[in-house]
Amino acid sequence: MTLVCSQPGLTVHGWRLGASAVLVPLAKAMVGAAHSHIWLEPMLAGYLGFILADLGSGIYHWGIDNYGDGSTPVFGNQIEAFQGHHKWPWTITRRQFANNLHALARAVAFVVLPIDLACNDPVINAFAGVCSGCIMFSQQFHAWAHGTKSKLPPLVVALQDAGLLVSRSQHAAHHREPYNSNYCIVSGVWNELLDKNKFLRH
Ligand SMILES: [Zn+2]
Ligand SMILES: [Zn+2]
Repeated sequence: MTLVCSQPGLTVHGWRLGASAVLVPLAKAMVGAAHSHIWLEPMLAGYLGFILADLGSGIYHWGIDNYGDGSTPVFGNQIEAFQGHHKWPWTITRRQFANNLHALARAVAFVVLPIDLACNDPVINAFAGVCSGCIMFSQQFHAWAHGTKSKLPPLVVALQDAGLLVSRSQHAAHHREPYNSNYCIVSGVWNELLDKNKFLRH
């Protein structure tokens, strides 16, 4: 069974908007780097964006897991979706790609599109493109963390094993008592540090 959104047009629209908000700065960063022949700084900025996206995903996930409900302004839908996810974790693997991503894609487009339009600096564009891309795809990385090893694409399993995507075992701990650890869902690189310091405990 595949879970389909009740408004498929809106879902695809949100996803496309987010995808362009991510692809435009990445393209601008590459064109800018090619023109100036400076690649190292944009690549480091992209790496920083990847690392910070994981931290951002953890803080956001912790916030919507622990505060508010379906009636909360702006974040209500996300809060309901995440709280529902804890009751029925397996359903995330049956969601359509665009259905899983469109809410975050819309938020990303809202924040990143103005940067895309205003800024031509390859370093800032590399950071914005990678960071927002990872945040937008975090729900897909999360869905893969709920997947069965034998059914996941081999590349995904390899990236999970290498620690570049949040691992299945690390995220499984988020769904075990006391349900207050491993909130980061991009690479999971921040989870150990945040959990050891009880940074996101309440
Ligand atoms: Zn959660
Ligand atoms: Zn989960």
